[in-house]
Amino acid sequence: MSVRLSLLLSVVLPGLLTACVVTRHPVTPAQVPAATQSADLIALLNTPGPIVHSAHLSARWSAKLSGLVNLDDPQAVELKDGDTPIVLPVHRLVHPSAGVFVVDSGVERDTLQGGRGPARGAVTLATKSVVPVEPLGDILASAGAPIAGVLITHMHLDHLLGLQDVPPGTPIYVGAGETTATGRGNRLLRRTVNAALDGHAPLRELDGVGAVPLGPIAQAYDLVGDGSLWALSTPGHTPGSMSYLARTTEGPVLFTGDTCHTIWGWEHNVTPGSFTSDQAMNAKSLSALKALAELLPGVTVYVGHELDGEGTGVDG
Ligand SMILES: [Zn+2]
Repeated sequence: MSVRLSLLLSVVLPGLLTACVVTRHPVTPAQVPAATQSADLIALLNTPGPIVHSAHLSARWSAKLSGLVNLDDPQAVELKDGDTPIVLPVHRLVHPSAGVFVVDSGVERDTLQGGRGPARGAVTLATKSVVPVEPLGDILASAGAPIAGVLITHMHLDHLLGLQDVPPGTPIYVGAGETTATGRGNRLLRRTVNAALDGHAPLRELDGVGAVPLGPIAQAYDLVGDGSLWALSTPGHTPGSMSYLARTTEGPVLFTGDTCHTIWGWEHNVTPGSFTSDQAMNAKSLSALKALAELLPGVTVYVGHELDGEGTGVDG
């Protein structure tokens, strides 16, 4: 979330800041396949899998550091608040038989020609500073296989901006309770979120049915049913925040979503700041992800808004 959007939400249009849901887009149970039966799922995760992963920098934006990192944490004492560059990544996962999945949606093609994307009303001012680099439509076009699903980590605006590049009918997955959470400012965002979701099928909610424990993660969903792609319930940043884990040809790859925005936050086990709705729960989920990563010695970890060498540059 950018500084301008934060300002809009906290200062401008106070009459609109009553708590409400961000969208009434329909939701349906995700109905995931039965989870892979394995005596040792962790051992399975430590063996290379069938998925080909590529990381894409879809856009650049900025956000307040105090939103990205909990500056009250004793480890963050050296960090100074201020406007900080971030990236909006899209992680493309090509499964040899199931098709292409993407983690989050980046931005849509329209924005490369100067279009506003799904932004509506006052949100248009905030998203003006988003700089598109590789829109989702281009990321999908070069994949060489049809899209099988969009894995939304959570329903904050900066994770939904590319959804209009996805064909209608594509399964879009969200965590349990993500669309029914109420919040101040949602009324301001609702037209934009609805424009992002316009024409799309009901969101597939990972609602606990079919979930199994995966190491320290209490609820994990085997999305393809072959143990290669897992949705991990990591609530806290938002009520239904999800992380994802893929068994790739290069080994396990973990996508934290905004359970952790920055590489610094991951390395120091420090949660995001004001952008997180429930600090204690976010901390618990981040610690669970850290514990999972400890069990996967060859794991590559991607945080929500930074790619190696590209992003916040937080290094305090
Ligand atoms: Zn975000």
